[in-house]
Amino acid sequence: MKDFLFDQPAARIVFGVGVSQRLGEEVQRLGARRPIFIATPGRRKYADEAARSLLNMTPALHAEAVMHVPIETVRAAREAAKRHDADCCIAFGGGSAIDLSKAVALDRGISILAVPTTYGGSEVTPFYGYTEGGIKKGVRDRKMLPKTVLYDPALTVSLPPSISGPSGMNAIAHCVEGLYAKNANPIMTLLATEGIRALARSLPVVVREPANLDARSDALYGAWLAGAVLGTVGMAVHHNISHVLGGTFNLPHANVHTIVLPHAAAFNREATPEAMHTIAEALGAQDAAQGIYDLVVRIGAPTALKDIGMPYEGLDRAAKLVAENPYYNPRPVEYDSVRQLLENAYHGKRPS
Ligand code: NAD
Repeated sequence: MKDFLFDQPAARIVFGVGVSQRLGEEVQRLGARRPIFIATPGRRKYADEAARSLLNMTPALHAEAVMHVPIETVRAAREAAKRHDADCCIAFGGGSAIDLSKAVALDRGISILAVPTTYGGSEVTPFYGYTEGGIKKGVRDRKMLPKTVLYDPALTVSLPPSISGPSGMNAIAHCVEGLYAKNANPIMTLLATEGIRALARSLPVVVREPANLDARSDALYGAWLAGAVLGTVGMAVHHNISHVLGGTFNLPHANVHTIVLPHAAAFNREATPEAMHTIAEALGAQDAAQGIYDLVVRIGAPTALKDIGMPYEGLDRAAKLVAENPYYNPRPVEYDSVRQLLENAYHGKRPS
């Protein structure tokens, strides 16, 4: 066994159908009385209902979160929290709401309680991304790790297949890269493997029967494991490319992950045979890259960058941005090989 360091940032996890009904007692547990709910406009109605359910508290609602967290939205949310004199953030929604909450909570030195409604995993990671001048940047600080997470599968039933599928693939991407991370460790390898298994078996059911609570629970469980992996070990070329495509070309985050992942796995195939074997086995496939691609097709998620608004002439720039500022990756990250990976992802070819 290789030497390792295990240093996991951890939160209080409350998991189960209906646990969001316990929001009031969990906010009280944090000693807060003036929480600010942060949500995307699409979740406003539900965040508002949750805010009204809080007794003996003065909640506020800021439902202006936007994907990739443009810096202007950070300023506006911080201002709203200041006006309300908020003593806690309730991040209600997907990664966009949770990342924005982190930017607010770190600024004010207050806690976050997260109620995630997608499979992105941000609720258990100590960092957030934001965009400024067309570049996606990151801030890392353990102080903004949510103190409590309420995972309620009932809140995910309303996710349409077009969001559930890609969001679940985003979670699988955290597991895949966690298996070949520079600082991989045996516990995260267990979590990543189990995360892939749980998501691979539940996502086809989730997109076919969105109201199936067993499958929703399984998927959310897998998403939690995936988020824990993302928050603990480093990510590699797949996340590197996805951040550039999302931040610079404003493409939908989870769809980008879905499309790029099979090609990133093929890119690293020879450099990480052990991880590839684990991924393939967890997917019930012969080959990791092909198994991921086939799962994407099975759940009806997009397979080609050209179908989600990526301009072909942007591929050169994207490859350049990745090669100029590469994350650790088991195989060297160079312009030509990344450009080829992007070409394959643009056309959505099944990895050979
Ligand atoms: P999102 O939060 O942007 O949500 C996508 C859409 O789904 C939104 O329109 C939202 O209103 C809607 N939605 C959310 N929950 C719903 C539900 N239950 N039912 C119906 N609709 C619902 O999507 P995301 O992919 O979770 O988040 C993407 C953002 O999160 C990006 O900015 C990404 O960088 C960030 N992110 C951060 C981390 C981290 O660890 N910091 C991890 C993953 C993603």
